[in-house]
Amino acid sequence: MGKLAVIAIGGNSLIKDEAHKTVEDQYEAARETCHYIAEMIEQGWDVAIGHGNGPQVGFILRRSEIAHKVEGMHEVPLDVCGADTQGAIGYALQQNLQNELHLRGIHKPVATIVTQVLVDRNDPAFQNPTKPIGGFMTEEEARRRQQEQGWTVVEDAGRGWRRVVPSPLPKEIIELDVIRILLQAGVVTIAVGGGGIPVIDTGNRQLRGIAAVIDKDYAASLLARALRADLFLISTAVEKVALNYGKPNQRWLDHMTLAEARQYLAEGIHFAKGSMAPKIQAIIWFLEANPNGKALITNPENIGRALRGETGTWIVP
Ligand code: ADP
Ligand code: MG
Repeated sequence: MGKLAVIAIGGNSLIKDEAHKTVEDQYEAARETCHYIAEMIEQGWDVAIGHGNGPQVGFILRRSEIAHKVEGMHEVPLDVCGADTQGAIGYALQQNLQNELHLRGIHKPVATIVTQVLVDRNDPAFQNPTKPIGGFMTEEEARRRQQEQGWTVVEDAGRGWRRVVPSPLPKEIIELDVIRILLQAGVVTIAVGGGGIPVIDTGNRQLRGIAAVIDKDYAASLLARALRADLFLISTAVEKVALNYGKPNQRWLDHMTLAEARQYLAEGIHFAKGSMAPKIQAIIWFLEANPNGKALITNPENIGRALRGETGTWIVP
């Protein structure tokens, strides 16, 4: 095998902005990111790709809710929404990568793996569900869902009621062996989409999907650790990471050491909680487990330049 990169692609690789959310728009956005990933492959990288799925799960849930209200259709459980999005997003990435590789005369197969990720049923996240899911509800519906379906519901700052689910840590990638075999055989592999479908071990290794959401950067980090990747690349909406992000004294970083990353994260003021902080944490875990690894955060269009050392934020042990 050549050098292995695990690439976590963010929401902006599928949805550019509010006005471009259709399936066709997402396909176009995916094409752009795949162009840059194909360039990496052309330069000799083996790649495993993870991706986000937040908005896409939201769309499926919305359709499911409407169809249920209007037609009495059965609803789609959250774990199945995850599986659906892995298939649909995997398809868009797979086809775009195949097309991009073909244009470059590269004959490398591409495959998407529906990926389950084991979580610990004793993870403290289950005591404190925080991740809002699905549309807004009236208080009456929220209470009924709570009663009948055991949902945890919260009032969201005057905007209505919403379901919240836990966001536990990923413990084990169930399909890891098959991902490894595919990579060793030279297959470009798309896996752990949306952080993976969260499953628990109900005893005697009997797995069952649960209503939860795993952070996609954490799951990609686990994949990068398990595969001992040379590079963990987080492709997102910003070219670089900043200190004091969004403040007058903001400073863009070209690189930081693992120790600096830990220190800045602990300072709590630099990286926003739901967005950059989990990326930095994911990278810290990767570098701690992989002292020979390197990590990079940049946006899709700058991947090539960043790999040449011209931009992006590099995080090294
Ligand atoms: P993704 O879909 O790729 O996970 P997120 O929106 O979750 O994207 O995280 C990326 C976003 O984090 C950036 O677009 C930026 O707005 C935000 N962000 C928060 N803190 C920082 C920081 N310190 N430096 C750069 N970007 C930051
Ligand atoms: Mg994010």
